[in-house]
Amino acid sequence: MQGDAASRPTGALGDEWTLTDQALDDEPMDRPHEACGVFGIYAPGMDVARVTYFGLYALQHRGQESAGIVTTTGAPELLAHRRIGLVSQVFNEESLCALPGFAAIGHTRYSTTGSNRQENVQPIISSGTLGQVAIGHNGNLTNTLTLRARLVDEGETFQSTSDTEVIARMLAIAPGLTYADKLRRIMPSLQGSYSLVILTPTELLAARDPFGVRPLCLGQLNGHWVVASETCALDTIGAQFVREVEPGEIVAISGDGADGLRSVRGQKSRRRAACLFEYIYFARPDSVISDRSLYLARQRMGIQLAEEYPVQADLVIGVPDSATPAAAGYAQARGLQYADGLIKNRYIGRTFIQPDQQMRALGVKMKFNALGAVLKGKRVVMIDDSIVRGTTSKPLVQLLRDAGATEVHLGITSPPFKWPCYLGLDVARREELIAARLEDEAAIGREIGVDSIHYLTLDGLVKAIDLPGDSFCVGCFTGTYPMPVQMDLADKLALEPSGVGPDRGQPVAGGSRS
Ligand code: SF4
Repeated sequence: MQGDAASRPTGALGDEWTLTDQALDDEPMDRPHEACGVFGIYAPGMDVARVTYFGLYALQHRGQESAGIVTTTGAPELLAHRRIGLVSQVFNEESLCALPGFAAIGHTRYSTTGSNRQENVQPIISSGTLGQVAIGHNGNLTNTLTLRARLVDEGETFQSTSDTEVIARMLAIAPGLTYADKLRRIMPSLQGSYSLVILTPTELLAARDPFGVRPLCLGQLNGHWVVASETCALDTIGAQFVREVEPGEIVAISGDGADGLRSVRGQKSRRRAACLFEYIYFARPDSVISDRSLYLARQRMGIQLAEEYPVQADLVIGVPDSATPAAAGYAQARGLQYADGLIKNRYIGRTFIQPDQQMRALGVKMKFNALGAVLKGKRVVMIDDSIVRGTTSKPLVQLLRDAGATEVHLGITSPPFKWPCYLGLDVARREELIAARLEDEAAIGREIGVDSIHYLTLDGLVKAIDLPGDSFCVGCFTGTYPMPVQMDLADKLALEPSGVGPDRGQPVAGGSRS
Protein backbone atom coordinates (compact mmCIF):
# COMPACT_ATOMS: atom_id res chain seq x y z
CA MET A 1 0.00 0.00 0.00
CA GLN A 2 1.72 3.16 -1.06
CA GLY A 3 0.73 6.47 -2.47
CA ASP A 4 2.21 9.40 -4.25
CA ALA A 5 3.37 12.23 -2.05
CA ALA A 6 3.42 14.52 -5.06
CA SER A 7 -0.36 14.70 -5.23
CA ARG A 8 -1.34 16.29 -1.98
CA PRO A 9 -4.93 17.35 -1.50
CA THR A 10 -5.80 19.54 1.44
CA GLY A 11 -9.43 20.32 1.11
CA ALA A 12 -12.85 18.81 0.83
CA LEU A 13 -13.49 16.14 -1.77
CA GLY A 14 -17.15 15.86 -2.62
CA ASP A 15 -18.95 14.82 0.52
CA GLU A 16 -15.72 13.26 1.81
CA TRP A 17 -12.81 15.06 3.32
CA THR A 18 -9.08 14.64 3.36
CA LEU A 19 -6.49 15.35 6.01
CA THR A 20 -4.47 18.47 5.79
CA ASP A 21 -0.68 18.23 6.06
CA GLN A 22 -0.83 19.83 9.45
CA ALA A 23 -3.30 17.35 10.83
CA LEU A 24 -0.99 14.53 9.74
CA ASP A 25 1.96 16.22 11.37
CA ASP A 26 0.10 16.43 14.65
CA GLU A 27 0.71 12.74 15.34
CA PRO A 28 2.66 13.16 18.57
CA MET A 29 4.39 9.78 18.77
CA ASP A 30 7.74 9.23 17.10
CA ARG A 31 6.84 5.78 15.86
CA PRO A 32 6.86 3.91 12.59
CA HIS A 33 3.30 3.67 11.34
CA GLU A 34 1.75 0.44 10.30
CA ALA A 35 0.22 0.65 6.90
CA CYS A 36 -2.87 -1.55 6.94
CA GLY A 37 -5.05 -4.23 8.43
CA VAL A 38 -7.08 -6.68 6.35
CA PHE A 39 -10.04 -8.90 7.13
CA GLY A 40 -12.24 -11.30 5.15
CA ILE A 41 -15.15 -13.64 5.85
CA TYR A 42 -17.16 -16.17 3.84
CA ALA A 43 -20.27 -16.94 5.87
CA PRO A 44 -23.62 -17.50 4.14
CA GLY A 45 -26.45 -16.68 6.52
CA MET A 46 -24.44 -14.27 8.67
CA ASP A 47 -24.35 -10.48 8.63
CA VAL A 48 -20.88 -10.49 7.05
CA ALA A 49 -20.58 -6.69 6.87
CA ARG A 50 -21.22 -6.39 10.61
CA VAL A 51 -18.70 -9.12 11.47
CA THR A 52 -16.16 -7.42 9.19
CA TYR A 53 -16.81 -4.12 10.95
CA PHE A 54 -15.87 -5.68 14.30
CA GLY A 55 -12.87 -7.41 12.72
CA LEU A 56 -11.65 -4.06 11.42
CA TYR A 57 -12.39 -2.47 14.77
CA ALA A 58 -9.91 -4.92 16.34
CA LEU A 59 -7.36 -4.04 13.64
CA GLN A 60 -7.72 -0.28 14.01
CA HIS A 61 -4.15 0.01 15.37
CA ARG A 62 -2.82 -1.06 11.95
CA GLY A 63 -4.31 1.92 10.15
CA GLN A 64 -6.29 4.91 11.33
CA GLU A 65 -6.89 7.03 8.30
CA SER A 66 -9.43 5.19 6.22
CA ALA A 67 -11.57 2.09 6.26
CA GLY A 68 -13.70 0.15 3.81
CA ILE A 69 -15.84 -2.94 3.43
CA VAL A 70 -16.87 -4.69 0.20
CA THR A 71 -19.48 -7.47 0.13
CA THR A 72 -20.93 -9.84 -2.46
CA THR A 73 -24.45 -11.19 -2.88
CA GLY A 74 -23.37 -13.28 -5.87
CA ALA A 75 -24.51 -10.60 -8.32
CA PRO A 76 -21.92 -9.29 -10.82
CA GLU A 77 -21.70 -5.94 -8.96
CA LEU A 78 -19.83 -5.91 -5.66
CA LEU A 79 -21.18 -3.60 -2.92
CA ALA A 80 -18.83 -1.16 -1.21
CA HIS A 81 -18.61 1.47 1.50
CA ARG A 82 -15.20 3.16 1.83
CA ARG A 83 -14.30 6.43 3.47
CA ILE A 84 -11.52 8.40 5.12
CA GLY A 85 -11.72 8.18 8.91
CA LEU A 86 -11.64 5.68 11.76
CA VAL A 87 -13.70 2.49 11.47
CA SER A 88 -16.18 3.90 13.99
CA GLN A 89 -16.50 7.12 11.95
CA VAL A 90 -16.78 5.47 8.55
CA PHE A 91 -19.60 3.01 9.34
CA ASN A 92 -22.99 3.31 10.97
CA GLU A 93 -26.13 1.15 11.05
CA GLU A 94 -27.30 2.54 7.74
CA SER A 95 -24.07 1.88 5.86
CA LEU A 96 -23.72 -1.64 7.29
CA CYS A 97 -27.33 -2.48 6.42
CA ALA A 98 -26.61 -1.39 2.85
CA LEU A 99 -23.97 -4.13 2.58
CA PRO A 100 -25.84 -7.45 2.35
CA GLY A 101 -24.11 -10.59 1.14
CA PHE A 102 -22.55 -13.91 2.03
CA ALA A 103 -18.89 -12.85 1.93
CA ALA A 104 -16.99 -9.66 2.68
CA ILE A 105 -13.53 -8.15 2.85
CA GLY A 106 -12.46 -5.11 4.85
CA HIS A 107 -9.45 -2.85 5.15
CA THR A 108 -8.06 -0.21 7.51
CA ARG A 109 -5.34 1.99 6.17
CA TYR A 110 -2.57 4.30 7.26
CA SER A 111 -1.22 6.30 4.37
CA THR A 112 1.98 8.19 3.83
CA THR A 113 1.68 11.97 4.00
CA GLY A 114 -0.25 13.35 1.07
CA SER A 115 -1.67 10.09 -0.18
CA ASN A 116 -4.74 9.93 2.00
CA ARG A 117 -7.16 10.50 -0.85
CA GLN A 118 -10.57 8.98 -1.30
CA GLU A 119 -9.38 7.19 -4.49
CA ASN A 120 -6.71 5.40 -2.45
CA VAL A 121 -9.13 4.11 0.18
CA GLN A 122 -9.35 0.32 0.08
CA PRO A 123 -10.59 -2.24 -0.79
CA ILE A 124 -9.97 -1.19 -4.39
CA ILE A 125 -12.44 -2.56 -6.96
CA SER A 126 -11.41 -3.38 -10.50
CA SER A 127 -13.22 -4.94 -13.46
CA GLY A 128 -11.63 -7.52 -15.69
CA THR A 129 -12.07 -10.55 -17.86
CA LEU A 130 -13.82 -12.50 -15.09
CA GLY A 131 -15.91 -9.61 -13.78
CA GLN A 132 -15.38 -7.45 -10.72
CA VAL A 133 -12.71 -8.07 -8.11
CA ALA A 134 -11.98 -6.17 -4.86
CA ILE A 135 -8.59 -6.14 -3.13
CA GLY A 136 -7.40 -5.18 0.34
CA HIS A 137 -3.63 -5.05 0.72
CA ASN A 138 -1.27 -4.89 3.68
CA GLY A 139 2.30 -4.36 2.57
CA ASN A 140 4.20 -2.50 -0.09
CA LEU A 141 5.34 -3.49 -3.56
CA THR A 142 8.95 -2.55 -4.20
CA ASN A 143 8.69 -2.67 -8.01
CA THR A 144 5.49 -0.62 -8.43
CA LEU A 145 7.11 1.90 -10.77
CA THR A 146 8.21 -0.81 -13.18
CA LEU A 147 4.89 -2.66 -13.09
CA ARG A 148 2.85 0.50 -13.45
CA ALA A 149 4.92 1.76 -16.39
CA ARG A 150 4.45 -1.60 -18.09
CA LEU A 151 0.68 -1.46 -17.60
CA VAL A 152 0.48 2.13 -18.83
CA ASP A 153 2.40 1.06 -21.96
CA GLU A 154 -0.27 -1.60 -22.47
CA GLY A 155 -2.98 1.07 -22.33
CA GLU A 156 -4.13 0.69 -18.70
CA THR A 157 -5.25 3.78 -16.83
CA PHE A 158 -5.24 4.35 -13.07
CA GLN A 159 -7.68 6.09 -10.73
CA SER A 160 -5.38 6.18 -7.71
CA THR A 161 -1.74 6.45 -6.77
CA SER A 162 -1.75 3.17 -4.88
CA ASP A 163 0.31 0.07 -5.61
CA THR A 164 -2.78 -1.93 -4.71
CA GLU A 165 -4.48 -0.66 -7.85
CA VAL A 166 -1.49 -1.98 -9.81
CA ILE A 167 -2.15 -5.44 -8.33
CA ALA A 168 -5.87 -5.03 -9.04
CA ARG A 169 -5.29 -4.14 -12.70
CA MET A 170 -2.77 -6.94 -13.17
CA LEU A 171 -5.24 -9.37 -11.66
CA ALA A 172 -8.09 -8.08 -13.78
CA ILE A 173 -6.29 -8.54 -17.11
CA ALA A 174 -4.20 -11.63 -16.33
CA PRO A 175 -5.07 -14.86 -18.18
CA GLY A 176 -6.75 -17.60 -16.16
CA LEU A 177 -10.03 -19.42 -15.70
CA THR A 178 -10.40 -18.39 -12.03
CA TYR A 179 -9.12 -15.51 -9.96
CA ALA A 180 -6.94 -17.93 -7.98
CA ASP A 181 -5.39 -18.98 -11.28
CA LYS A 182 -4.87 -15.34 -12.30
CA LEU A 183 -3.29 -14.55 -8.93
CA ARG A 184 -0.92 -17.51 -9.24
CA ARG A 185 0.19 -16.17 -12.62
CA ILE A 186 0.89 -12.61 -11.44
CA MET A 187 2.52 -13.40 -8.08
CA PRO A 188 6.01 -14.02 -9.54
CA SER A 189 5.92 -10.45 -10.95
CA LEU A 190 5.06 -8.84 -7.61
CA GLN A 191 8.13 -7.85 -5.60
CA GLY A 192 7.78 -6.65 -2.05
CA SER A 193 5.38 -7.45 0.73
CA TYR A 194 1.73 -8.27 0.39
CA SER A 195 -0.87 -9.90 2.56
CA LEU A 196 -4.01 -9.77 0.42
CA VAL A 197 -7.72 -10.33 0.86
CA ILE A 198 -9.58 -10.55 -2.45
CA LEU A 199 -13.32 -10.74 -3.07
CA THR A 200 -15.01 -11.79 -6.30
CA PRO A 201 -18.77 -12.16 -6.78
CA THR A 202 -18.45 -15.86 -5.80
CA GLU A 203 -15.22 -16.35 -3.86
CA LEU A 204 -12.97 -15.06 -1.07
CA LEU A 205 -9.23 -15.33 -1.67
CA ALA A 206 -6.30 -14.66 0.65
CA ALA A 207 -2.64 -14.63 -0.29
CA ARG A 208 0.71 -13.84 1.24
CA ASP A 209 4.02 -12.92 -0.36
CA PRO A 210 6.66 -15.68 -0.42
CA PHE A 211 8.63 -14.03 2.40
CA GLY A 212 5.61 -13.73 4.70
CA VAL A 213 6.64 -10.18 5.65
CA ARG A 214 3.22 -9.15 6.99
CA PRO A 215 1.06 -11.50 9.04
CA LEU A 216 -2.14 -13.16 7.82
CA CYS A 217 -4.10 -15.87 9.59
CA LEU A 218 -7.08 -18.14 9.01
CA GLY A 219 -9.84 -18.85 11.50
CA GLN A 220 -13.28 -20.40 11.73
CA LEU A 221 -16.47 -18.88 13.03
CA ASN A 222 -19.32 -21.36 13.43
CA GLY A 223 -17.82 -23.45 10.62
CA HIS A 224 -17.36 -20.42 8.32
CA TRP A 225 -13.91 -19.25 7.17
CA VAL A 226 -12.38 -15.99 8.34
CA VAL A 227 -9.08 -14.31 7.33
CA ALA A 228 -7.40 -11.54 9.33
CA SER A 229 -4.12 -9.70 9.68
CA GLU A 230 -3.91 -10.66 13.34
CA THR A 231 -5.38 -13.21 15.70
CA CYS A 232 -6.78 -10.44 17.93
CA ALA A 233 -9.43 -9.86 15.23
CA LEU A 234 -10.41 -13.54 15.38
CA ASP A 235 -10.72 -13.30 19.18
CA THR A 236 -12.87 -10.18 18.92
CA ILE A 237 -15.48 -11.83 16.69
CA GLY A 238 -15.40 -15.14 18.59
CA ALA A 239 -13.60 -17.11 15.84
CA GLN A 240 -11.07 -19.87 16.48
CA PHE A 241 -7.57 -19.61 15.07
CA VAL A 242 -6.89 -22.42 12.57
CA ARG A 243 -3.50 -21.59 11.05
CA GLU A 244 -1.49 -18.89 9.32
CA VAL A 245 -1.70 -18.38 5.58
CA GLU A 246 1.71 -19.70 4.55
CA PRO A 247 4.23 -17.47 2.75
CA GLY A 248 3.58 -17.82 -1.00
CA GLU A 249 0.21 -19.52 -0.44
CA ILE A 250 -3.12 -18.66 -2.05
CA VAL A 251 -6.24 -19.73 -0.18
CA ALA A 252 -9.49 -19.83 -2.17
CA ILE A 253 -12.71 -20.04 -0.14
CA SER A 254 -16.05 -20.81 -1.75
CA GLY A 255 -17.84 -22.76 0.98
CA ASP A 256 -17.82 -23.78 4.62
CA GLY A 257 -15.62 -26.29 6.41
CA ALA A 258 -12.63 -28.16 4.99
CA ASP A 259 -14.34 -28.74 1.63
CA GLY A 260 -14.93 -25.04 1.14
CA LEU A 261 -11.24 -24.09 1.25
CA ARG A 262 -8.68 -24.78 -1.44
CA SER A 263 -4.98 -24.09 -0.97
CA VAL A 264 -2.84 -23.31 -4.01
CA ARG A 265 0.86 -22.60 -4.08
CA GLY A 266 1.15 -19.14 -5.58
CA GLN A 267 4.89 -18.91 -5.39
CA LYS A 268 7.61 -20.98 -3.83
CA SER A 269 8.90 -19.57 -0.55
CA ARG A 270 12.69 -19.80 -0.45
CA ARG A 271 12.98 -18.19 2.97
CA ARG A 272 10.83 -16.34 5.47
CA ALA A 273 11.42 -12.68 6.25
CA ALA A 274 8.79 -11.68 8.79
CA CYS A 275 8.86 -8.04 9.83
CA LEU A 276 10.61 -7.78 13.20
CA PHE A 277 8.62 -4.68 14.02
CA GLU A 278 5.42 -6.68 14.09
CA TYR A 279 6.95 -8.42 17.13
CA ILE A 280 8.50 -5.30 18.64
CA TYR A 281 5.66 -2.87 18.33
CA PHE A 282 3.03 -3.04 15.56
CA ALA A 283 0.92 -6.06 16.20
CA ARG A 284 -1.33 -6.01 19.24
CA PRO A 285 0.18 -7.65 22.34
CA ASP A 286 -2.80 -10.02 22.55
CA SER A 287 -2.07 -11.37 19.05
CA VAL A 288 -0.08 -14.51 18.31
CA ILE A 289 2.26 -14.72 15.32
CA SER A 290 4.21 -17.87 14.40
CA ASP A 291 3.00 -19.47 17.60
CA ARG A 292 4.53 -16.69 19.70
CA SER A 293 2.43 -14.57 22.06
CA LEU A 294 3.48 -11.02 21.34
CA TYR A 295 2.91 -10.00 24.95
CA LEU A 296 5.30 -12.70 26.18
CA ALA A 297 7.82 -12.01 23.39
CA ARG A 298 7.88 -8.34 24.43
CA GLN A 299 8.29 -9.30 28.06
CA ARG A 300 11.27 -11.47 27.08
CA MET A 301 12.73 -8.51 25.16
CA GLY A 302 12.72 -6.62 28.47
CA ILE A 303 14.38 -9.55 30.24
CA GLN A 304 17.03 -9.73 27.51
CA LEU A 305 17.57 -5.97 27.72
CA ALA A 306 18.15 -6.30 31.47
CA GLU A 307 20.87 -8.85 30.74
CA GLU A 308 22.59 -6.53 28.26
CA TYR A 309 22.00 -3.29 30.17
CA PRO A 310 21.91 -3.80 33.95
CA VAL A 311 21.40 -0.22 35.13
CA GLN A 312 21.59 0.74 38.82
CA ALA A 313 18.21 2.36 39.36
CA ASP A 314 15.27 2.64 41.78
CA LEU A 315 12.39 2.36 39.37
CA VAL A 316 11.46 0.95 35.95
CA ILE A 317 8.77 2.56 33.80
CA GLY A 318 7.57 1.78 30.28
CA VAL A 319 6.40 4.22 27.63
CA PRO A 320 2.70 3.28 27.48
CA ASP A 321 1.23 1.21 26.10
CA SER A 322 3.50 -0.64 23.70
CA ALA A 323 6.58 -0.83 25.97
CA THR A 324 4.70 -1.88 29.10
CA PRO A 325 5.28 -5.68 28.78
CA ALA A 326 9.01 -5.13 28.13
CA ALA A 327 9.29 -2.78 31.12
CA ALA A 328 7.63 -5.38 33.34
CA GLY A 329 10.12 -7.98 32.04
CA TYR A 330 13.08 -5.68 32.66
CA ALA A 331 11.95 -4.89 36.22
CA GLN A 332 11.34 -8.55 36.99
CA ALA A 333 14.76 -9.58 35.68
CA ARG A 334 16.56 -6.83 37.64
CA GLY A 335 14.48 -7.20 40.80
CA LEU A 336 13.48 -3.53 40.57
CA GLN A 337 10.22 -1.80 41.32
CA TYR A 338 7.95 -1.31 38.29
CA ALA A 339 5.55 1.63 38.22
CA ASP A 340 3.44 3.73 35.86
CA GLY A 341 5.56 6.86 35.67
CA LEU A 342 3.85 8.12 32.53
CA ILE A 343 0.10 8.33 32.14
CA LYS A 344 -1.18 8.27 28.59
CA ASN A 345 -4.37 9.90 27.47
CA ARG A 346 -5.97 6.75 26.09
CA TYR A 347 -8.92 8.56 24.64
CA ILE A 348 -6.98 10.91 22.43
CA GLY A 349 -7.01 8.87 19.19
CA ARG A 350 -5.93 10.94 16.26
CA THR A 351 -7.17 14.47 16.33
CA PHE A 352 -8.15 16.16 13.10
CA ILE A 353 -8.46 19.50 14.86
CA GLN A 354 -5.37 21.57 14.37
CA PRO A 355 -3.84 22.83 17.63
CA ASP A 356 -3.00 26.49 17.95
CA GLN A 357 0.61 27.54 18.32
CA GLN A 358 0.56 27.31 22.12
CA MET A 359 -0.92 23.81 22.11
CA ARG A 360 1.53 22.69 19.44
CA ALA A 361 4.41 23.78 21.67
CA LEU A 362 3.12 21.45 24.37
CA GLY A 363 3.93 18.52 22.07
CA VAL A 364 3.90 15.18 23.89
CA LYS A 365 2.12 16.73 26.88
CA MET A 366 -1.07 16.38 24.87
CA LYS A 367 -0.57 12.64 25.05
CA PHE A 368 1.45 11.98 28.23
CA ASN A 369 1.65 13.25 31.78
CA ALA A 370 4.41 12.34 34.24
CA LEU A 371 3.52 11.15 37.75
CA GLY A 372 5.56 13.28 40.12
CA ALA A 373 4.38 11.28 43.14
CA VAL A 374 6.05 8.17 41.67
CA LEU A 375 9.12 9.71 40.04
CA LYS A 376 10.34 12.33 42.53
CA GLY A 377 13.86 11.60 43.82
CA LYS A 378 14.14 8.35 41.84
CA ARG A 379 16.75 7.00 39.46
CA VAL A 380 14.52 5.86 36.59
CA VAL A 381 14.99 3.35 33.76
CA MET A 382 12.51 4.16 31.00
CA ILE A 383 11.86 1.32 28.53
CA ASP A 384 10.66 2.09 25.01
CA ASP A 385 10.32 -0.11 21.94
CA SER A 386 11.95 2.10 19.31
CA ILE A 387 13.29 5.52 18.48
CA VAL A 388 12.73 6.83 14.97
CA ARG A 389 13.56 10.54 14.88
CA GLY A 390 14.04 11.05 18.61
CA THR A 391 11.40 13.75 18.67
CA THR A 392 9.26 12.02 21.30
CA SER A 393 12.04 10.61 23.49
CA LYS A 394 13.61 13.98 24.22
CA PRO A 395 10.48 15.70 25.58
CA LEU A 396 9.51 12.51 27.45
CA VAL A 397 12.87 12.53 29.23
CA GLN A 398 12.34 16.19 30.08
CA LEU A 399 8.88 15.37 31.46
CA LEU A 400 10.46 12.81 33.80
CA ARG A 401 13.14 15.24 34.96
CA ASP A 402 10.58 18.00 35.49
CA ALA A 403 8.60 15.54 37.62
CA GLY A 404 11.63 15.05 39.90
CA ALA A 405 13.51 12.02 38.48
CA THR A 406 17.16 12.36 39.53
CA GLU A 407 18.51 10.11 36.74
CA VAL A 408 16.88 8.95 33.52
CA HIS A 409 18.26 5.88 31.68
CA LEU A 410 16.71 4.73 28.43
CA GLY A 411 16.48 1.08 27.30
CA ILE A 412 15.17 0.37 23.78
CA THR A 413 13.86 -3.08 22.90
CA SER A 414 15.00 -2.89 19.28
CA PRO A 415 18.33 -2.26 17.56
CA PRO A 416 18.98 1.24 16.16
CA PHE A 417 16.57 2.11 13.31
CA LYS A 418 19.06 3.17 10.61
CA TRP A 419 17.38 2.48 7.29
CA PRO A 420 13.95 3.22 5.84
CA CYS A 421 11.39 0.49 5.47
CA TYR A 422 10.34 -0.27 1.90
CA LEU A 423 8.02 -3.08 2.88
CA GLY A 424 4.87 -1.46 4.14
CA LEU A 425 5.73 0.79 7.05
CA ASP A 426 5.78 4.52 7.08
CA VAL A 427 8.98 5.41 8.90
CA ALA A 428 10.96 8.44 7.82
CA ARG A 429 13.62 9.39 5.34
CA ARG A 430 17.05 8.11 6.23
CA GLU A 431 18.40 11.56 7.05
CA GLU A 432 15.62 11.98 9.62
CA LEU A 433 16.48 8.78 11.52
CA ILE A 434 18.36 9.69 14.67
CA ALA A 435 20.43 6.48 14.60
CA ALA A 436 21.49 7.20 11.01
CA ARG A 437 22.27 10.87 11.72
CA LEU A 438 24.36 10.35 14.84
CA GLU A 439 27.41 8.16 15.13
CA ASP A 440 26.72 6.04 18.21
CA GLU A 441 24.59 5.41 21.29
CA ALA A 442 26.50 8.01 23.31
CA ALA A 443 25.70 10.75 20.79
CA ILE A 444 22.04 9.71 20.65
CA GLY A 445 21.89 9.72 24.45
CA ARG A 446 23.35 13.23 24.55
CA GLU A 447 20.82 14.53 22.02
CA ILE A 448 17.90 12.97 23.89
CA GLY A 449 19.25 14.13 27.25
CA VAL A 450 19.48 10.79 29.12
CA ASP A 451 22.12 9.68 31.60
CA SER A 452 22.64 6.47 29.61
CA ILE A 453 21.04 4.61 26.73
CA HIS A 454 21.16 1.09 25.32
CA TYR A 455 19.52 -0.52 22.27
CA LEU A 456 18.76 -4.23 22.42
CA THR A 457 21.15 -6.09 20.11
CA LEU A 458 19.76 -7.88 17.05
CA ASP A 459 20.93 -11.21 18.50
CA GLY A 460 19.23 -10.38 21.79
CA LEU A 461 16.01 -9.45 20.02
CA VAL A 462 15.92 -12.66 18.00
CA LYS A 463 16.70 -14.68 21.14
CA ALA A 464 13.76 -13.03 22.91
CA ILE A 465 11.35 -13.84 20.07
CA ASP A 466 12.68 -17.40 20.09
CA LEU A 467 12.49 -18.12 16.35
CA PRO A 468 15.38 -18.80 13.92
CA GLY A 469 17.32 -15.60 13.18
CA ASP A 470 17.16 -16.09 9.41
CA SER A 471 13.34 -16.01 9.43
CA PHE A 472 13.14 -12.22 9.82
CA CYS A 473 13.50 -9.11 7.72
CA VAL A 474 16.25 -6.94 9.25
CA GLY A 475 16.28 -4.23 6.55
CA CYS A 476 15.73 -1.19 8.76
CA PHE A 477 18.52 -2.28 11.11
CA THR A 478 21.16 -3.38 8.60
CA GLY A 479 20.24 -1.88 5.19
CA THR A 480 20.05 -5.44 3.82
CA TYR A 481 16.55 -6.23 2.63
CA PRO A 482 15.24 -9.68 1.80
CA MET A 483 14.33 -8.62 -1.74
CA PRO A 484 15.24 -5.91 -4.22
CA VAL A 485 13.93 -2.48 -3.28
CA GLN A 486 13.75 0.72 -5.27
CA MET A 487 15.93 2.85 -3.05
CA ASP A 488 16.22 6.57 -2.85
CA LEU A 489 19.47 7.78 -4.38
CA ALA A 490 20.65 9.07 -1.00
CA ASP A 491 20.29 5.61 0.48
CA LYS A 492 22.19 4.07 -2.41
CA LEU A 493 25.10 6.47 -1.95
CA ALA A 494 25.14 5.76 1.77
CA LEU A 495 25.59 2.05 1.06
CA GLU A 496 28.61 2.58 -1.15
CA PRO A 497 31.48 1.73 -1.41
CA SER A 498 30.49 -1.69 -0.12
CA GLY A 499 28.07 -1.67 -3.02
CA VAL A 500 24.60 -2.94 -3.40
CA GLY A 501 24.79 -6.70 -3.50
CA PRO A 502 22.18 -9.14 -4.63
CA ASP A 503 20.41 -8.91 -1.29
CA ARG A 504 20.66 -5.18 -1.18
CA GLY A 505 18.41 -4.62 -4.11
CA GLN A 506 18.50 -2.64 -7.27
CA PRO A 507 18.67 1.02 -6.42
CA VAL A 508 16.58 3.36 -8.50
CA ALA A 509 17.08 7.07 -8.08
CA GLY A 510 13.99 8.71 -6.73
CA GLY A 511 12.39 5.34 -6.13
CA SER A 512 9.17 5.00 -4.23
CA ARG A 513 9.07 4.85 -0.47
CA SER A 514 6.28 3.85 1.78
S1 SF4 B 1 12.59 -3.04 7.01
FE1 SF4 B 1 12.16 -3.15 9.25
S2 SF4 B 1 10.09 -2.33 9.48
FE2 SF4 B 1 10.36 -2.85 7.29
S3 SF4 B 1 9.60 -4.95 7.04
FE3 SF4 B 1 11.81 -5.10 7.44
S4 SF4 B 1 11.94 -5.32 9.71
FE4 SF4 B 1 9.89 -4.56 9.24
